[in-house]
Amino acid sequence: MVNIREQCSWVHRDRPDEALVKAKALTAGTLAHVRAASAAASMTIPITPSALILGSSVAALTAALRLADNGMEVLVAESGDTFGGRLSQAYFGKPEVNVDRLYRHFLSRIRNQPRLRVLRHTELADCRGSLGNFHVELRRRPTESSGVVERIRETVGTILIAVGADVWKPENLYEYGRSPLVLTQAELATALDRGSVHLAQARGVLMIQCVGSRNDERPYCSRSCCQQAVSHALELKEHFPHLRITILHRDLRTYGLTEMIYQEARHAGIRFLRYDENRPPVVKPTRFGRRSTMDVRWDDPDTGASFHERADLLVLSTATVPSPENHHIASILRVPLSADGFFMERHVKLAPVETAVEGVFIAGQCHSPKTIAEALVQGDAAAAKMLAVLRQGAVHRAAFTAVIDPGRCSRCLSCVGVCPAQAIIVPPLGPLRVDPGACQGCGICAAECPARAIDVAGAEEEGLLQGMPSVFCA
Ligand SMILES: Cc1cc2nc3c(=O)[nH]c(=O)nc-3n(C[C@H](O)[C@H](O)[C@H](O)COP(=O)(O)OP(=O)(O)OC[C@H]3O[C@@H](n4cnc5c(N)ncnc54)[C@H](O)[C@@H]3O)c2cc1C
Ligand code: SF4
Ligand code: SF4
Repeated sequence: MVNIREQCSWVHRDRPDEALVKAKALTAGTLAHVRAASAAASMTIPITPSALILGSSVAALTAALRLADNGMEVLVAESGDTFGGRLSQAYFGKPEVNVDRLYRHFLSRIRNQPRLRVLRHTELADCRGSLGNFHVELRRRPTESSGVVERIRETVGTILIAVGADVWKPENLYEYGRSPLVLTQAELATALDRGSVHLAQARGVLMIQCVGSRNDERPYCSRSCCQQAVSHALELKEHFPHLRITILHRDLRTYGLTEMIYQEARHAGIRFLRYDENRPPVVKPTRFGRRSTMDVRWDDPDTGASFHERADLLVLSTATVPSPENHHIASILRVPLSADGFFMERHVKLAPVETAVEGVFIAGQCHSPKTIAEALVQGDAAAAKMLAVLRQGAVHRAAFTAVIDPGRCSRCLSCVGVCPAQAIIVPPLGPLRVDPGACQGCGICAAECPARAIDVAGAEEEGLLQGMPSVFCA
């Protein structure tokens, strides 16, 4: 292919005559190359009808069940000691989805699905191969029953990354970590779940939104914290109707059906007030009679008026942040991360659950912050894409791959380190080989090989040399 658009007309748009000469030279060079090239053979690689799913969150389990119900063998590797991700921690008050019912549904379905295996305490340690045949190594931490680190080796056709995200800890911000009166929404949720919230003597609760989100460091919206704040406010109001509850926000993002819980909260008397994003609220511990309280001051962005309120409990809606583990998984699977540290999709509209690596998919909060309902839908979408691949049974493609001439290869291993696809197989003896399923045909190994033992089908050295005079002598 001659790329006249990007490599000629766009870069030389101010010099059209010279661009024309260059376009002719590129075309002549490519034609000379094609004349000398040999046809690439086609190859067929059988696909192992199975999937590995990293994480056992709502996105992961939705995809796992969908795949297993459709006849695929599914292995779920969960690094923690429970499954269900944040669902099992019951962080939610009144969201769109009934979390308890969803968790029970997953539990019973997993028990009754023989094609689904869930391994806890297990993480990805290594991965070789490519779409259809990923050779993965999993590491299982010692448990009471085994007592030793187990290495589990499997071959799977596709991989889904669904490892969720973390919650940001606002250390030393708004007195968090210094005062027991300051909690994050996640901590309040756990306390509500355990029944350990005691506010019978309290008068006011104040919540601050967008703590650590939508700033220079993390420009994105964490998406679920507004609905969680409203849900928690409603739950507090139900248990302690006398409380004055205020939610301080920049703009409230209870979108979609969660607008209904916002309406419910307004009717219940919960107050929603805006603060100026350029002048975040100021929090000071203070005493009011015998009570310890938090003194909160803020400015209204429209009128500039200053406000002041005393809170017996201050709740911070903190950012959802990518797991630091993402870097490790990304380097093993060779998939890119976004600037924010989340796993990046191949195309935001055309391939939203695929990654740059064929056969590796993403779903849930490891891709970007999202609600349970959104994670569930994305898990289903990923499963549909994975099924479409696995059902083909085999990968058919032209073998534009590297070939190593055994007569020339001296086993210096120069090519092994530079191959971005880890496609070069080093047998104990004899010349090296290339795994055609993994090879991307990039040609880096051919350029690196000092013995000139490697050629890439469709881009053989001989053909490239034939095309060069037309390009450089134009
Ligand atoms: C503080 C907070 C409040 C929220 N409030 C709401 C709300 O009110 N309403 C709502 O709809 N949504 C809310 N959400 C979002 C909701 O939690 C998620 O949408 C939902 O849990 C689905 O996330 P997930 O499927 O991506 O993974 P998660 O639930 O995050 O689970 C990820 C799983 O992967 C496992 N894991 C992590 N690393 C690895 C690894 N390396 N290998 C294997 N396994 C791994 C974890 O142990 C965990 O089990 C909230 C999220 C947070 C953080
Ligand atoms: S969901 Fe609400 S609190 Fe959370 S970052 Fe977005 S706007 Fe801020
Ligand atoms: S052509 Fe590229 S992907 Fe294929 S073996 Fe050589 S370096 Fe690896």
